Amino acid sequence: MTRFVFITGGVVSSLGKGLASASLGALLQARGYRVRLRKLDPYLNVDPGTMSPTQHGEVYVTDDGAETDLDLGHYERFTGVSARRTDNVTTGRIYTNVIEKERRGDYLGATVQVIPHVTDAIKEFALSNVDDEDFVLCEIGGTVGDIESLPFLEAIRQLGNELGRERSMFLHLTLVPYLKSAGELKTKPTQHSVKELQSVGIQPDMILCRCEQDIPAGERRKIALFCNVPVDNVISAPDVSTIYEVPICYHDRGMDQQMIKHFGLEEPEGDLDLSRWTHIIDSVKNPEGEVTIAVVGKYTDLLDSYKSLAEALDHGGIANNVRVNMNWIDSEIFESEDAVHHLSDVEGILVPGGFGERGAEGKIAAVKFAREHNVPYFGICFGMQMAVIEAARSLAGIEGAGSTEFGACTDPIVGLMTEWTRGNEVERRASGDNLGGTMRLGAYDCTLADDSLVRQIYGETNISERHRHRYEVNINYRDQLEAAGVRFSGLSPDGILPEIIELPDHPWYVGVQFHPELKSKPFDPHPLFTSFIRAAMDRSRLV
Ligand code: GLN
Repeated sequence: MTRFVFITGGVVSSLGKGLASASLGALLQARGYRVRLRKLDPYLNVDPGTMSPTQHGEVYVTDDGAETDLDLGHYERFTGVSARRTDNVTTGRIYTNVIEKERRGDYLGATVQVIPHVTDAIKEFALSNVDDEDFVLCEIGGTVGDIESLPFLEAIRQLGNELGRERSMFLHLTLVPYLKSAGELKTKPTQHSVKELQSVGIQPDMILCRCEQDIPAGERRKIALFCNVPVDNVISAPDVSTIYEVPICYHDRGMDQQMIKHFGLEEPEGDLDLSRWTHIIDSVKNPEGEVTIAVVGKYTDLLDSYKSLAEALDHGGIANNVRVNMNWIDSEIFESEDAVHHLSDVEGILVPGGFGERGAEGKIAAVKFAREHNVPYFGICFGMQMAVIEAARSLAGIEGAGSTEFGACTDPIVGLMTEWTRGNEVERRASGDNLGGTMRLGAYDCTLADDSLVRQIYGETNISERHRHRYEVNINYRDQLEAAGVRFSGLSPDGILPEIIELPDHPWYVGVQFHPELKSKPFDPHPLFTSFIRAAMDRSRLV
């Protein structure tokens, strides 16, 4: 029997609802339950793929090629369960489906309305593609009280009714602010937020209260009384020093125990084994050293745009027992003379994924610095493309080397990909195509060359990694580049698409066309990040 937990948020946004959901998933999993997490986003974009990373944060790509909300990254990192296309939906997607059905005539005779047609589509989504999971955790994006989330709240209200209490639960996350001037914790915003939820017919079964500090029993009793919830189901969620502490923090305050009780499930004897998390916390809190990595990108104003990347670097640190300091640098500053020498202080340089011409020459300058000064270099997607352009210009003497992403150029070392294979199918694109959802997206296989650095790092020959890009390194330049010392060490199985390049004469210089950061987990750090951080540690011993 699959049970559904609906997670809403109140008072303010950015309370960490995604992390809370992910942590709850991890706790249920530690109890031996199979979990799946999903996100229902009330905005009108069909997916976040066309939104600016500095608006919405990173676009998280699933194996099956969906562009999704970054919370799905938290879910995967905390539970290890690979997210699927059917784990994230938006108002835009729901309406697109409803309107397509209307045009096909599927509702013939009916007036198509928010209730029941839109709410039915939301419910259908929430219940879809469920295998044998014991729990599906559905997080509703946004904050209760937003106009746009109303159809979602109505849909989960109906679901709660249809599934019954033994198969559904409502969890509400709120903020309990501490007013310094009054020296008091304030429960009123939580009371109001719960009232708002009750006004659309949802009575929360559990309230999770984000707070700077632990909430004393008196305040929890007050919240319980005004919000109509048993006091043991008012859980305090104080700030913690690392996100990896969240599952244990919730467990210590009884969250999963109360949830089990709600569903009438048996509480097993003995303590829950959360050693997986204690090991991670221990490594984060007691590092044996530190390294500094410069991340040279252009979405540095909002670090959520590099969420998975920052996490994966941390995981590389956990694997090596060091703290990773990240220096987020806007690449444009390297476009002026000499600024690039600021990079002398770091032990590793990483150019992450990116789009568009702005800042590209600054990234190329950073790659050049890394190459010439033997600083470990990790190029991801756009960072690989810039590395190949730099090598083409500097090592192979192809002066006009560029990417057609920035317009026509004499030597399109990086060009628009118009046709590629996925399994037994051929996918085609043209330059005038729509921008939404039309990149090379999702998991693709890659074959690693024997004796290459990446072959050694992965410990296997065939790997699968997730992609999100429109342009591709042009295989026609392979011979010229290899003659200049650039090794094409990873290729698509048909040998047409360069997936990885490396410089054998450099201590650690790897460019990958995919996004390895999307698959890294704290308890299973990605081998490329582990190896990159190790190389940075070696450099810190050298300099
Ligand atoms: N803009 C590049 C492309 O579309 C790289 C994309 C990325 O870094 N994710 O190919």
